[in-house]
Amino acid sequence: MLCCLGLFAGLAVGSATGGPWTFIAPAAGFGFGLLGDMKLLRGDRKNNGSHGAGCCGVGHMGEEGADSRLKDPVCGKTIEDKTARYRAMFKGNAYYLCSFECESSFKDNPERYI
Ligand SMILES: [Zn+2]
Repeated sequence: MLCCLGLFAGLAVGSATGGPWTFIAPAAGFGFGLLGDMKLLRGDRKNNGSHGAGCCGVGHMGEEGADSRLKDPVCGKTIEDKTARYRAMFKGNAYYLCSFECESSFKDNPERYI
């Protein structure tokens, strides 16, 4: 439950703030919410974690689709923003790259790829 609330709060804050916060705020809100959920679950072991899966495993897949999948501007691969290791900031926007090679290509000449 809390993870959903956090995500929505993050989305609201992110879209109001703009820039990289569009991605960071929902992720942070979701993370904090998830921590809250885990605390709740610890006090109610009968549910055995099923709540977490029902809450966020299925419910938000469609809504998250647009935001959680990003394109590597260099090679065009789809990147999962939650797991992306290679990032670059350019003109206030965050770009996610699939590899060190793409990251350095992008940083060498960002204008070429956007
Ligand atoms: Zn790439």
